[in-house]
Amino acid sequence: MQAAQHAGIFKMKIHAISTGKVKITQNWQVAREGDPLRLAHTLFDRRFTDWLPIFCYVIEHPEGLIVIDTGIPANANDPVWFPPWMRLVQRAAYFDRMSSEEEIGPQLQKRGLSINDVRWVVLTHLHQDHDGGLHHFPQAEIVITQAEWKAAAGLKGRLVGYLNQRWPKWFSPTLIEFKNDPYGVFTYNHQLTLAGDVHLVPTPGHSLGHMSVLLQEDSHVICFAGDASYSQELLLTDEIDGIAPNPVAQLRSHKQILEFAAQTPLIYLPAHEWDAQRRLEAREAIPCS
Ligand SMILES: [Zn+2]
Repeated sequence: MQAAQHAGIFKMKIHAISTGKVKITQNWQVAREGDPLRLAHTLFDRRFTDWLPIFCYVIEHPEGLIVIDTGIPANANDPVWFPPWMRLVQRAAYFDRMSSEEEIGPQLQKRGLSINDVRWVVLTHLHQDHDGGLHHFPQAEIVITQAEWKAAAGLKGRLVGYLNQRWPKWFSPTLIEFKNDPYGVFTYNHQLTLAGDVHLVPTPGHSLGHMSVLLQEDSHVICFAGDASYSQELLLTDEIDGIAPNPVAQLRSHKQILEFAAQTPLIYLPAHEWDAQRRLEAREAIPCS
């Protein structure tokens, strides 16, 4: 396990790895709260964002590698046979063409990391650009929330856009039921590592069972935020996105993250913001007034 020693402080190596890129409609990225046609405006909008990254993060932890989200597979743009309205979703969020070498597995190997050393794969949620590289990790413990599993599995999951027919046949994740066990401002948490430096906390809204990963490092905490918001700015300005099934919960999750950041320097790393990589390298915390 590689780790750097800086002025006597043990620093874990953390990688931000973009597996492909995605464009989404502008109304998907930022939506109007209370708009009864929010989903229609999202799917039929003709204005798109620039290419956004699809970051997976990898922590070289002494207890084993922790992979947070797994990006997309090379065939992510292939038509989805079911349900038919997924065509609309594919138009409103489309992926850059990529080779199989850009999938998460080969990218780990390119960095000298072995798939066999992956102890946990934590999925912030089960959208296709977060669970699309699962097939690389048949031996790892895969961790999701009970609530996300409930929302995404079976026919019910497919009808609301989860591509569960693409899950590997062996997929049988560990389901987290959060305990009332406060961690900072988060009432509910699940401690992942024995060392007690990695915690999973519920940040629902963007999806019903969305969670974020908090890593205590020195005197700051790094928040691997998945799609809790698509960028730090959208967190600070408290915007909802176009597809969140529970916008009220999304706003509540934003508030909790910002309350946490007011108490402890927090480096905020969403999956779809290029600047997250720079903030990670600089360990630049959310500015708090
Ligand atoms: Zn998502």
